[in-house]
Amino acid sequence: MREEKILKKAAEIENRIIEIRHQIHQNPELSFAEKETANLAADEMKKLGFKVEENIFGTGVCASFLNSDSDDAKTLLIRADMDALPVEEKNDLDYKSKNKGVMHACGHDGHTAILIGTAMVLKELAAEFNGNLKFIFQPGEETSGGAEGMIKAGVLEDPKVDAAMGLHLWGSTEEGIVEYKSGPLMASPDRFNLKIIGKGGHAARPHNTIDPIPIAAQIISSLQNIVSRRIDPLESAVISVGKIEAGQTHNVIPDEVEIKATVRSLKKDIREKLAEYVESVIKNICEIYGAEYELEYIFGYPAVINDPKMTDIIKKAAQKILGKEKVRKKEKAEMGGEDFSYFGREVPAVFYYLGIAPQGEIVNHHQSDFKFNDSVLKTGVAVMAQAALDYFEA
Ligand SMILES: [Zn+2]
Ligand SMILES: [Zn+2]
Repeated sequence: MREEKILKKAAEIENRIIEIRHQIHQNPELSFAEKETANLAADEMKKLGFKVEENIFGTGVCASFLNSDSDDAKTLLIRADMDALPVEEKNDLDYKSKNKGVMHACGHDGHTAILIGTAMVLKELAAEFNGNLKFIFQPGEETSGGAEGMIKAGVLEDPKVDAAMGLHLWGSTEEGIVEYKSGPLMASPDRFNLKIIGKGGHAARPHNTIDPIPIAAQIISSLQNIVSRRIDPLESAVISVGKIEAGQTHNVIPDEVEIKATVRSLKKDIREKLAEYVESVIKNICEIYGAEYELEYIFGYPAVINDPKMTDIIKKAAQKILGKEKVRKKEKAEMGGEDFSYFGREVPAVFYYLGIAPQGEIVNHHQSDFKFNDSVLKTGVAVMAQAALDYFEA
């Protein structure tokens, strides 16, 4: 059976993949500074005989393996992100981070190791498929994103990519479980910076000022009404104000208030409406009280939307490798963002989760005690390799 062969190959390379993960974990690098990580990935892919391009949009690596003579062979892209976070690791591990204040607290060390492992397995099974592979090691997922830049630099061309896959190790899913979901999986994380400009003065003489603080208070409560009153209750939207700053002391009305907020949604039309409503609330409330405003509204990554056919490939591949009971349909999307979405905007794509939570626990991403067991790496490799082979046969 094909899946037994894949599992055997994955088991054979497991120790090496664990070593690679530990090496990356010990030497975490922040977004767009993933130099050593990129070098390591590029070296491993070169050793496997892949054609490797480096320094794409910063530290990005694209490794291709053309395994077909036919001109109309399909090309599958598989992506991993490489960046770590500005977090001080609190875990007591023998492969604990050596870079002070920097930590792989989202599992991207695992993603990179899994992608290298997938390449090792697929290379050995080259005789069993007909098609081209492109492995993308991407910078900057945690900040402004490397996917869009790598696409603009041409990674979807020559040979032209037909489909894309990626995974995230996931802390709220039980260890070893694969979760899949067709359609929207993750949100578009937009944000805005707002400055409400009033006129400061003596706090005992408010009528001689334009007090931006009550204006800010009204704006913040009206922003909540956008989600509850203007968006269809069966759709998803979040507006959260994460920062508000103004003033110095009791008896002085300040000139300005600064607000920072995140605005998230799963669908393009809702996303556009939210941006329009947010500005309308700010503009109108400021106008009532004679205040001015400066609004910088920043559209972040698009939502991750999974292609139904690609999702089905992952579901069935995972079932072959893990058995049906370890593969679950995810009912609800997540309101977190992921720049894998840029690949999905260009070609049919699927992003899925591989659980890392020990039974009865939740592992929190981006925290100093984030960790996962090495045993999930082999599972990640086997599922991804099976899915790639199934894709070429679909
Ligand atoms: Zn993260
Ligand atoms: Zn992540």
